[in-house]
Amino acid sequence: MKTLVLGGGVVGVTTAYFLAKAGHEVTVLEEKDGLGQEATGGNAGIIAPGHSFAWASPRAPRMLLESLRGAETAIRVRLAPDLGFYTWGLRFLRECTAARARRNTLIKLRLCQYSQAVMNELVRRESIEYHAIARGALYLYRDPAELEAGTKKMALLAEHGQKQEILDAREVAKLDPVFEPVRDKIAGAIRDVGDSSGDSRVFVENLARVCREKLGVAVRLGVRVTGLHADGDRIDAAVTSAGVLSADSYVLALGVGAPRVARTAGVSLPVYPAKGYSSTFPLRAGGLAPTVPGVDERWLVGWSRLGDRLRLTSTAEFAGYDWSWTPRDFNNILRLARDLFPDAADYDRGEYRACLRPMTPDGPPILGLGLHRNLFFNAGHGHMGWTMACGTARIVADLMTGRMPEIGLEGLTVRR
Ligand SMILES: Cc1cc2nc3c(=O)[nH]c(=O)nc-3n(C[C@H](O)[C@H](O)[C@H](O)COP(=O)(O)OP(=O)(O)OC[C@H]3O[C@@H](n4cnc5c(N)ncnc54)[C@H](O)[C@@H]3O)c2cc1C
Repeated sequence: MKTLVLGGGVVGVTTAYFLAKAGHEVTVLEEKDGLGQEATGGNAGIIAPGHSFAWASPRAPRMLLESLRGAETAIRVRLAPDLGFYTWGLRFLRECTAARARRNTLIKLRLCQYSQAVMNELVRRESIEYHAIARGALYLYRDPAELEAGTKKMALLAEHGQKQEILDAREVAKLDPVFEPVRDKIAGAIRDVGDSSGDSRVFVENLARVCREKLGVAVRLGVRVTGLHADGDRIDAAVTSAGVLSADSYVLALGVGAPRVARTAGVSLPVYPAKGYSSTFPLRAGGLAPTVPGVDERWLVGWSRLGDRLRLTSTAEFAGYDWSWTPRDFNNILRLARDLFPDAADYDRGEYRACLRPMTPDGPPILGLGLHRNLFFNAGHGHMGWTMACGTARIVADLMTGRMPEIGLEGLTVRR
């Protein structure tokens, strides 16, 4: 069975791996000149079932409204004449009830937990190096009332299998000495013990090497997919910058590029970009740098140590397909870095970029079949795609090879 996997991010490459393991003859098509250079190359690096909360929550509509009034909220919106955003936005608002937020959170949590188990097994079997740190993740609070509210919120995940510890400032500093000099600036943290971190771009490069060398996967870089050609209920070709390419089956794993390509085959995918800002700094020799990944729950900046670099990311902005940024967009990241980790990295030598999360209105990704019998989706992983990639890849490969996925798929947009 010949399969074209469209997209060479963490979702595409993990899918290629599981399909090749199941005997498919796989080719990955990627428009960039390297793998994992889009969202996969800019994320915060946290593998975080403990961060599964749905963005569409009862708090979100107010936040969006305040953002329209100019406030610096966690989720922001920039209105533009883009019908796609309004259609997506209405579906997002519909998901903002307490009941739906809980349901969507638990669906995401289940996928994340499963994915972590699949990833651990894959990493062990193939000896994949990716600057992994398995010391949990810290959800950090500046004030005791916020810590208490956070603890109540996190209880939902604890009730569903996440092991958590509530730490005061002294215990946080004991776990990660980077906080010792700034203990008075924090109230404490919730540590999700099972979370971890690592560099998803390095993971993708190393897994792709296994795919090529052990499993015969072909990776074609610099190939842009411009459309799909449908014939009745089948796709018979992908139209690309390298010509028209045919296969028996196709997997759409293009991140935020997925809806545009799906549309050419008459499929409407509810995936919309949420822009985030990502910065990476070289660690300073002898400096005190974080050893546990985390998120500052007040300033909403995430951090993790990726080898000899420190990655910090922030912000979710609905601004369409816009990769632009200005130095001002990094003000809160730099403020946090200098506030909590003043000595960790060389902040004058940062690499800055914006990247786009492929968001669905409810949160969980879109997996499996749509209108066509041989076009499979693995798209819309939103803010959790590094965490979910291995699990969703395994699920999609199982669906494509007639195997029963190992977890129930209730609540997911999926057809077999
Ligand atoms: C700021 C930020 C922080 C994040 N932090 C975390 C985190 O801590 N933990 C976590 O789990 N997740 C995190 N995420 C989310 C995660 O990075 C994404 O969900 C994940 O990378 C999505 O993977 P993907 O392969 O679907 O998309 P991508 O990585 O974007 O890959 C899609 C690929 O398809 C290619 N492509 C697109 N269109 C075409 C086309 N027409 N033809 C050919 N190729 C095409 C692109 O070049 C790209 O390489 C974060 C995201 C952002 C933006």
